[in-house]
Amino acid sequence: TGTPVTVLGLGLMGSALAGAFLRAGHPTTVWNRTTAKADDLVAGGATLAESPADAIAAAPLVVVCVSDYDAVADVLKGPLHGRVVVNLTSGTPSRARALAEEVTRRGGDYLGGGIMAVPEAVGTADAVIAYSGPRSLYDAHGSTLGKLGTGLHLGDDPGLSATHEMGTLILMWGMLDGFLNGAAILGAAGVSATAYLPIARTAIDTVAGWLPGYARQVDDGVYPPDDGTVDTHLAAMAHVIEESETLGINTELPRLVKALAERAATEGHAASGYPALVEQFRKP
Ligand code: NDP
Repeated sequence: TGTPVTVLGLGLMGSALAGAFLRAGHPTTVWNRTTAKADDLVAGGATLAESPADAIAAAPLVVVCVSDYDAVADVLKGPLHGRVVVNLTSGTPSRARALAEEVTRRGGDYLGGGIMAVPEAVGTADAVIAYSGPRSLYDAHGSTLGKLGTGLHLGDDPGLSATHEMGTLILMWGMLDGFLNGAAILGAAGVSATAYLPIARTAIDTVAGWLPGYARQVDDGVYPPDDGTVDTHLAAMAHVIEESETLGINTELPRLVKALAERAATEGHAASGYPALVEQFRKP
């Protein structure tokens, strides 16, 4: 059997985390505000603690996954001496750093983590979980945490995993809104989302292939037009707005996209490559 672990919070994600530990043979203690959510896990061999403090006392490694940091404050009760708190709750980097300080003050150790996966993937290599906090702490518990998915250690700053989570979330919404807006355009023209899907997937793969070059341009601060100028993109953006109006659908997203590109062009980047838009995102 593996190291005993505790999981606080048994929502969709917390239940998946506890289930992965159980399947991997770790004695697993769980607690949830709504006790009934522990039923399946208890049937599978988990121990239900009567209180968060009892759950924390039961194992040296305490994984917390609740809605937000206010909920974390509600569940992280009792002494933390000798406990490693692994917080997989989403929130801002500053909240993560403040919590890391509090945990340390109360005698515990802290690792922050961001789950870049859905609950169904937890327990498989497909679930990427990015951790940050003291490297030695991650090394000591990496094999246990590895039961949850593919772990990455990003650095010692406990807020870093939350910063990466922000980057992942905005990327995810950009792709999802792009797909849904595309589905609305195709749908208004009588094409189903399912029929749009193969070309949408190919487009995402194609764009993903551009990212290494884009990352280099962003880091270098020079934007040669390797694959087209901002002006060329602007002409295409105008077409999308025009057609969306013709179809009688929402034009907010293409208008926002065009406004950003127009500003980049006005600021001297009409003939630059698209990565020049990063400068628009850097401003308040
Ligand atoms: P759920 O809404 O399914 O679960 C929320 C959990 O938080 C429940 O266990 C709930 O308890 C608990 N909770 C909320 N408020 C309190 C409180 N004041 N005191 C005690 N417990 C509280 O959310 P998820 O499990 O989906 O998400 C949990 C975290 O994981 C979030 O931060 C989310 O961003 C993150 N995450 C989720 C992903 C997903 O795909 N679901 C992906 C990546 C990250 P109760 O059951 O009693 O309501």
